[in-house]
Amino acid sequence: MTKLGRELAAQGINVISLSVGEPDFNTPAHVKDAAKKALDDNFTRYSPVPGYPDLRQAVVNKLKNENGLDYDISQIVVSTGAKQSLSNVILTLVNPGDEVIIPTPYWVSYSEMVTLAEGKSVFINTDIESNFKITAEQLEAAITPKSKVFMFSSPCNPTGSVYSKDELAALVKVFEKHPNIFIISDEIYEHINFVDKHESIAQFASVKDRVIIINGFSKAFAMTGWRLGYIAANKEIATANDKLQGQTTSGTCSIAQRAGIVAYEQGLDSVYEMKEAFARRRQLVYDLLNDIPGLKTNLPDGAFYFFPEISSFFGKKDPNGNVIKDSSDLALYLLNFGHIATVGGDSFGNNNYIRLSYAASDDNLKEALRRMKDALGKLV
Ligand code: PMP
Repeated sequence: MTKLGRELAAQGINVISLSVGEPDFNTPAHVKDAAKKALDDNFTRYSPVPGYPDLRQAVVNKLKNENGLDYDISQIVVSTGAKQSLSNVILTLVNPGDEVIIPTPYWVSYSEMVTLAEGKSVFINTDIESNFKITAEQLEAAITPKSKVFMFSSPCNPTGSVYSKDELAALVKVFEKHPNIFIISDEIYEHINFVDKHESIAQFASVKDRVIIINGFSKAFAMTGWRLGYIAANKEIATANDKLQGQTTSGTCSIAQRAGIVAYEQGLDSVYEMKEAFARRRQLVYDLLNDIPGLKTNLPDGAFYFFPEISSFFGKKDPNGNVIKDSSDLALYLLNFGHIATVGGDSFGNNNYIRLSYAASDDNLKEALRRMKDALGKLV
């Protein structure tokens, strides 16, 4: 959708993009300065495969101070973004035929990574009524002797849902009965949480050793282009990730790593500033979405997405007589007639929804939602 939106924009059409999953802020100045200094200090050579020791120590400190979690630097592997970390972990854990349990909606790449490892994705469906969160009963029902990994994000992309400590505790009770299942906990949106402090499933001692935390710098510090992420896991998994990475990409960009240290050491002021803007926009978009007939939304607790239900528009016709059959048709219609780029929920495993990112200016959001209301009102 982003690509199609750019094509329309190249034709001179004013397209507002609500399809991209990245903060619309600049990387904080102190982080950029650290990268400039890294260049001047000649941090320009190959770095250790799992990352510079002082960056891994900064990650250990962060996990201790912010999350109350104890890790040793041998348990941290830095990579070229949370995406590579996820891919490393899936490739090291999943053998052909292994089942990976994924709640829907999920971030697009999860199931594709499982396919690359020749594993099988097993989906647990959720909907807006449950705020897109699974229950312990649903988890139990999805487990088979072939289950190898459970994989989820909280805060979630694409729904913004956040699991509370109690909700995680209920899932942990199920995992305690199934000691062979690993848990990939994607916490990349950790700092964009509007309800509570972030809760990691790794805080539960009974499962910590089989939790693989995925995190990174992209969303919290508006550093999507720097490609810097990491895992925190047990030593065996960390070592396997190190080995795999050693034969594929090697250590990630030396300059980005030096900047990452400063990002973690200098605290979260820039993150709070960004979060304040997201909180304001979340309320703005919520009010505007609630003003659109036929569409149903919840108020997401984290990340910067809405995932409204749009199935009441299925079967309706656009002004050219084309029938809207699914969420992709609706997203295409909104792009071609409303000139707003969104993403159909089918990309995330739930067809009755579309995803809107509110990482855009207040003015663009107001105009985009006006266009959306207008375009949806023209479907008959
Ligand atoms: N996990 C989720 C849920 C994401 O949304 C994204 C980025 N869109 C990533 C991981 C990848 O993050 P990174 O840019 O650090 O590779």
